[in-house]
Amino acid sequence: MSTFLGIDIGGTNIAYGIVNDDFGFRYQSSLKTKSVETADALADLIFNDIRDNYKGSIDGIGIGAPSVNCLTQQIEFAPNLQKWGDIIPLKTIFEERFKREVTLVNDANAAAIGEKHFGDAGDLQNFAVITLGTGIGMGIFVDGRLYTGDNGMAGELGHIVVRFDGRECKCGNSGCLETYIGKKGIIRTAKEKLEFSSGGSILHEISPSAITPLEIFKAAKKEDPVALEVVDLVARDLGYSIALLVNLFDFQNVYLAGGVAKSGNMLRKKTEKYMKQYTLPNTRDKVKLKISEINDKHGSVLGAAAAIREKMSFALK
Ligand SMILES: [Zn+2]
Repeated sequence: MSTFLGIDIGGTNIAYGIVNDDFGFRYQSSLKTKSVETADALADLIFNDIRDNYKGSIDGIGIGAPSVNCLTQQIEFAPNLQKWGDIIPLKTIFEERFKREVTLVNDANAAAIGEKHFGDAGDLQNFAVITLGTGIGMGIFVDGRLYTGDNGMAGELGHIVVRFDGRECKCGNSGCLETYIGKKGIIRTAKEKLEFSSGGSILHEISPSAITPLEIFKAAKKEDPVALEVVDLVARDLGYSIALLVNLFDFQNVYLAGGVAKSGNMLRKKTEKYMKQYTLPNTRDKVKLKISEINDKHGSVLGAAAAIREKMSFALK
């Protein structure tokens, strides 16, 4: 029986778990990303935690992270991990610390691998998983295979431009999707709307620093007019962006994953309305927008573990 460590590095949380061949969890834990000063410190923290709390061995390590170049096996210019440097050679750092083989995959690719192996997409040939959180990522399966692109950078959905001369993005461009529907973008939109609303919003009762996408979605469910307007804007930008993809790739299903997707069915329904509006008639009634049923952290951790298992069994052949 082989055992793998899967790690999911997000802009807010880092989740990891040890799984065996049948992908049952043997150990699970998590860290706050902002509490970790460097990538070397991350390797030390996880290494020490596992040494102290898990009594078995590990055969290989899969890591899902944002802005991964899967060819160089480095994180390159990740806007939400700037603190750790522009180029983060995570494979090398973890291999030196753990003395085990490591593979690094884009976090959204890890979620897509998770959806294919453990979720709803087992039989699908063409689908995408969009991760909604601090950043916006996407993993794509085309003709049954994960599509990574010529430079290993495919699926950077968060950085397609949805407004010319729009909000400044950490990537250097302006008007990127992420600046509107990433966590910070949603909060910014809500604050802008609140400034111009004449009082009639329950969001006014929350201190500005406590406004989160989850609070906004909660308020929208109570028919709060400002919150509803914000959710509608998020759904429009997301639905429009998904429609572009459906027109290009002719996906069977598109899945929403990540923290913001957990806000429930309202965002999915509204997004689906806009997705259909901008999708060609031939595919409009066929493509389905679903919320990934794999818990987002588990899905990416399992996907990262599945990636190293695939790589190691491939290497053994
Ligand atoms: Zn950008």
